[in-house]
Formats: sequence, C-alpha cells, structure tokens
Amino acid sequence: MTQADSRVAHLPTTSYYCPSGKYDELWRRADEDPEGFWAEQALELDWFKRWDKVLDWKAPYARWFVGGKLNLSVQCLDRHMKTDVRNKVAFYWEGELGDSQVLTYGEMYRQVNNTAGALKRLGVKRGDRVAIYLPMIPALPVVMLACARIGAPFTVVFSAFSGQALADRVEDTGAKVIVTASGMHRRGKILPLKENAVEAAARCACVEKIVVVKHTHHQVEMDPNRDVWLSDILSGCDEYVAPEDMDSNDPLFILYTSGSTGKPKGILHGTGGYSLWIAKTMQWAFDTDAQTVWWCTADVGWITGHSYVVFAPMILGLTSVMYEGAPDYPALDRWWAIIAKYGVTAFYTSPTAIRMFMRHGEEWLSRHDLSCLKILGSVGEPINPEAWLWYYRNVGKERIGISDTWWQTETGGFMISPTPGIQMHALKPGSATKPMPGVVPAVVDADGKELPNGETGFIVIKKPWPGMLLDIYRNPDLYHKTYWSRFPGYYLPGDYCMKDQDNFLWLLGRADEVIKVAGHRISTAELESAIVGHSAVAEAAATSRPDEIKGEAIILFVTLRKGTPPSVEIKNELTRHLRATIGTLATPEEIFFVNLLPKTRSGKIMRRLLKAVATGAAVGDTTTLDDGASVDEAKAAFAELT
Ligand code: ATP
Ligand code: MG
Repeated sequence: MTQADSRVAHLPTTSYYCPSGKYDELWRRADEDPEGFWAEQALELDWFKRWDKVLDWKAPYARWFVGGKLNLSVQCLDRHMKTDVRNKVAFYWEGELGDSQVLTYGEMYRQVNNTAGALKRLGVKRGDRVAIYLPMIPALPVVMLACARIGAPFTVVFSAFSGQALADRVEDTGAKVIVTASGMHRRGKILPLKENAVEAAARCACVEKIVVVKHTHHQVEMDPNRDVWLSDILSGCDEYVAPEDMDSNDPLFILYTSGSTGKPKGILHGTGGYSLWIAKTMQWAFDTDAQTVWWCTADVGWITGHSYVVFAPMILGLTSVMYEGAPDYPALDRWWAIIAKYGVTAFYTSPTAIRMFMRHGEEWLSRHDLSCLKILGSVGEPINPEAWLWYYRNVGKERIGISDTWWQTETGGFMISPTPGIQMHALKPGSATKPMPGVVPAVVDADGKELPNGETGFIVIKKPWPGMLLDIYRNPDLYHKTYWSRFPGYYLPGDYCMKDQDNFLWLLGRADEVIKVAGHRISTAELESAIVGHSAVAEAAATSRPDEIKGEAIILFVTLRKGTPPSVEIKNELTRHLRATIGTLATPEEIFFVNLLPKTRSGKIMRRLLKAVATGAAVGDTTTLDDGASVDEAKAAFAELT
C-alpha cells in the first residue's frame, strides 16, 4: 500500500492517542494466558453460576465458560436496575417522520419483561425459534431481549428483505413465531411488512403465529387464527418474567451473513463468550464511558446492529441513538442534524455511507455543529484512504480519531481495530491497525506458510477468541469446509491482508476476488482505493475476466462525483491515474460508468455479480441485493461494448 503510506506522513497520528503501552501489555497477557485473562474479564458480567472451565478448545469448536449460566437480558437490563443507570436514557429513538421516543433502561426493562410474558403465553418455550422482522423501532431491541430472556433463539431478518428472503430464513431456522410490524417508513413510503410476513408464513409450515407491532397506520388484515397484535397480548401491568438460566454455550441467535460472496450462511452465536467479547471490544475500540452518546447507523438486521446497536451498548449501560429512516431523507443532512440534536459523541458508520456523502459534497455537513463528536468509526468494507481522509477532515475536523473495525458476522465483535480505550497509539488511513487483545492473526500464503511483513496473503486467526461463532446453524459440514478445511487448526475469514513494517494490518478485500494479472496478484481494495483517489470518482468496484495472455484482465465499474459527466477523456485519465499510482500492471481493460454499483442491503459491493456480468456467467443468489437495477445497468453497459 505505497499509495496509502505516502499519505500518512501528513497526519498528526500520534497527537490523540498516547502510547502508554497498556495495549501491548493486555495483548501479551491475553496471548500468554488466555484462560486467566478472560476469566478475569468475565467477572464484569453477572453470572447465575460461575463456569467450571474457561475454554474447551477442540478444533474447530471452541466453547467458552463451560458450565457457566447467565442470561443476556440480565446483562443488558436487570443489573442496571440496581444502579444509577436505571433512570438513564438507553435509546433516543427518532422516526423518519420526525417523531421521537426517549426510553430509559427502566422503561426497556418493563417492556422486555412484559413482552417476554406475552411470548410465553403465546406458547413460545425455551429452545423454540422466533423470527423477528421489524424495522428500526424500539420494539426491535425489546423483542430480541425478550427472546433472550425466555431462552428462545431468535433470528432477525432485515426489514427491507422480501417475503421470499424472509421465508428462506424462517424455513432454515424452523421458527414457530414471526414478530413483525404493520409496516415501516422508508423515504416517505410505507413498506408492507405484515404482508411479507403472511407470504413467508404461507410458505413455511413451521409458523404458528404472527405477532404484529402497530407502527404505521394503514389498514392491515388479521387472520384471527394466526395473527395477533402485540399490544393485545401484553398484560399491561408491571409483569416480571424470571430470566432463564442459559448455559454459556446455548444458542442465543442465528444470523444470516450479508451474502456478498454467495448464499447467506446462518451463523450461530451463544451467550457467555459473545457478550463478553462485544462489551470489551466496544470499550477498547471506542473508549466509551458513562458520558458517551453512541450512534451506530447499522440496521439491527446485521451483526453490527446486533452487537453494537443493541447488546454491547446496553451491557455497558450507554445512551444510544436509534434512527428508523434513510440517511438522505428528507435531505442529505439528516444524519448530521441527528448528531447535533442528540449530542452524539461516538459515531459509527460504513464506507458506503461515507462515499455517498463524499459524492454529494461537503455543504450538507457545514449546516450543523458537529463539535460534540469525540470519536468516529467505520465498518463493513475496506475503507479507501481517500474516504478515510474525507471522513477525518470533514466530519472529524482533523481533531478526532477513526476506529476502522474489521470483523465479520462469524467473529461476533471487532477483531482488528484501533483501541483508544487501551491507548493504542497511531492511525493510518485505510488500515484497521492492530488485533484486539485475544486475537492472534497471521498472514499466510496458499500453502499456509506465514509470510514476511509487506507481503499479501490470506489472513488467518490462530487461536479461538470469546466471540467466535458456535457453528453454522444445522450445517456443521459447511462450517468445517468454509472456515477450517484449507488451513487446519486456523480460522479462515476469507479476506486478503498485508502486514506492514510497523505490524499494522491492511485488509484488502476478499481473497477469492484477488485479480491475477501476468503472474501478479492485485487486490480489489488496492485497485478501488487507487481509482477512488482520483477527485472525479465517488466509488468503484474492481473485477476481472479471463484473458488468454495476461491470465486475467481488469474490469472496473465506476460512479463519478457530482459534476463530472462520463466521457472518453475521463476514462483515459483514470487509466493514466491507475498506471501512475499502482503501475502499468493495473491498466484496466475496460472502465464502465454506472449510476449505482450492485450492493448488498448492508451496503457492501457485490463484485461476484459484476464478475458474472463480465464473464457472462449466471448471477447466482441475489436475495440480499439492494437494487436489481444496478446489475441491469452494469449488464447494459457491458452489452453496449460487446
Ligand atoms: P458472506 O459471508 O455471505 O459473503 P459478508 O462476508 O459480506 O457476506 P459480513 O459478515 O456482514 O458478511 O461481512 C464481513 C466481511 O466484511 C469481512 O469478511 C470483510 O470482507 C468485510 N469487512 C467488514 N469490516 C471491514 C473493515 N473494517 N475493513 C475491511 N473489510 C471489512
Ligand atoms: Mg463473509
């Protein structure tokens, strides 16, 4: 990453994190004595019964705090009832229409107990699965915690998914109940969630009941044998439901991955190791304290929303913002207005959102006072150094740091990230920096041999960590094959990586998307970052197609910033720019200009679809695709040429 390294010199990187060595010390302790280290950390949780054994590691299965009993809803709620947190704000919720609610921890506790009672009366027992198909409204964390309280593993399905995508997940988990809402607001429209839930129930014999939260005020048809309003089955009084004593490794939830690389996988997480991991990593990466006002913009339908909208902030007793709607509704400054309104101190979003704001210019930001911010975060994809710098300068005003957190649905929580909470000291735009205490990564070649610093290869994790997935739900064969078969004993995330001379890690996109040109391997992140470094480019996706001479030929799909129309001149200029920043090797065979890149609904570029377009192959599973038109657009651009 010479391109990124050359930019680092301009940054006052050491000014805000003082290198006290605390990070190094914690990382070393976690490495030398993981069981002692994690046992000590785990005392921060409330256990019904202490564990008998800290770690049972029989590769590829790690079981943490074996024999320990606890309940996640107790970590998030009950224990705060004995402290000042009881009357503290848990969520400032804001609807897309501008309506709002302020929910304290005490109020969340009452609602969770009441909802847990209602689910029990409906016949949901410990071990029964519940599908939750709700928009970003307070009922969503309430229902998740109610399920956790009664020991019912839940699967949250992102509310913008279709009835078919919901049905796939309901079927796979065998959910008995679907909890949904009458509808949701999105860019001024009402989306009919209840209708989608009915479609899914019709396809899945396992579904006995649909529970409906009244949110939008349109007419909703109810089947008296199957459908109930949540408000009708709540007892309405101060109900208390005793939390189930869950084993540390009992299933807590099943969550499907984004489907960037193929059919979504049902990732299974438990309670003990997972809760501890998300709470500690949040403190470390965002230096949170009692004054923190946290806003993670992810939808709760993704792991980021599970771990860092709902559970970790609540375990830590933080105040959070939760927003229902679109970032650009009614205008492109909605998010900045929300930050200023609630005094957000820690803001965590994705590169795709940052690039969208970059595309539309800085004037939207300048309308609001963002001086309340103390730290920023990024997640979801490699953040291009250009986007990092834009975020740093325009949102952070060059005075606060950015925690670029690399992790996956499977890892439960952050794996590689700056750790200002334990005083890790420097940042480099585009690098997720260093592993969390407890994470032991290595960069290896195709034979599993560790590579020297500066060389790119597969990232592997050499030891289990507390947030590690329990399994792929009902598919242990896929679990073995996906993560453990290529380099036995090491967890394989599937990403490409480089460790630089300072031991900073650069995550470079998917290993199976690396492009091989004339015997050289170029990562998609490297190509995309180089081209996004040109001032006319907003966003780019790199893919390839087979080439008789070079092996593979580079194909780029590009969206331009406002004010630059597509032209042959700009195409030539971008080619020159790529050759100048990476080398002649990076000469693209074609650059296509499009308005939208195909993305998952969590905002990740789906390069496999572009590859299919470029090679004429079948596009495969598209259930998680955000906007079908963007694939058609790429196809049309491609057809014009061929
Ligand atoms: P699927 O596994 O179905 O293909 P997915 O991998 O996109 O989907 P997630 O678990 O939501 O599903 O995403 C994890 C992936 O996102 C990582 O493997 C990595 O490629 C990418 N990622 C997340 N955060 C970062 C980051 N900060 N830097 C670089 N890449 C990141
Ligand atoms: Mg993945």
